[in-house]
Amino acid sequence: MENRKLFDSNRLKRVLKRKCAPGNTTAKVLCQPGFPLYYMLRNLGWLKSEKWWASLSLRAKRVNAIRMLARRGALFRQVKEWRQINKNEQIGAPDAADNAGVPDYCNKCGLCCEVASGMADFPCPEQMPPGWKHLFSNGLGRGHRFCPFLWEDNCSRGGMCSIYPLRSNPCRLFGADECDFFWKSKEPLELSSRTKILKKARWLTKHLNLRPAWERP
Ligand code: SF4
Repeated sequence: MENRKLFDSNRLKRVLKRKCAPGNTTAKVLCQPGFPLYYMLRNLGWLKSEKWWASLSLRAKRVNAIRMLARRGALFRQVKEWRQINKNEQIGAPDAADNAGVPDYCNKCGLCCEVASGMADFPCPEQMPPGWKHLFSNGLGRGHRFCPFLWEDNCSRGGMCSIYPLRSNPCRLFGADECDFFWKSKEPLELSSRTKILKKARWLTKHLNLRPAWERP
């Protein structure tokens, strides 16, 4: 079944890479495989319907959006490094191997991870790098609307958990019924509208297309 709620951000990443100023480190991270660009754009869509965001000036919206991207980008780099270091290590709960494959009913829409915070009940807390538990339970800050560890899987056009072997117990317990509930809800579908995502992407490209600080007059 084709997943209508997923968006292929590969092309978008290529366009961003071409259009953004060379040396713009935030833009560079955004274009990397795995960076949750699609979820960031949906996130900005969510914010549009929130009062505090609507009351901001255009300039403040731009500054906030860029700050959010930079924050997300910094963590993305940190997680990427951690994954690189640990790729040959046995990490995670004793049942990590059993969880190596996602359940059959999961279509990788990532909607279950579209929460900014959760109960930080991890099966192997001692294996979590410092600060990550806190990030999981408190989110990345104002405006962030999805899990700090949600990435995109650019091959499957879906979401992926970047810390899958370490993920929290509540994440492990998410079942088919809850999944079905998200899948059938109207709002995410509306937010995933291709037109809206592309509109947000254009807005982002315009504002990210800045010269790096050291090149500004
Ligand atoms: S830790 Fe992983 S599975 Fe849990 S909400 Fe975050 S991205 Fe999703």
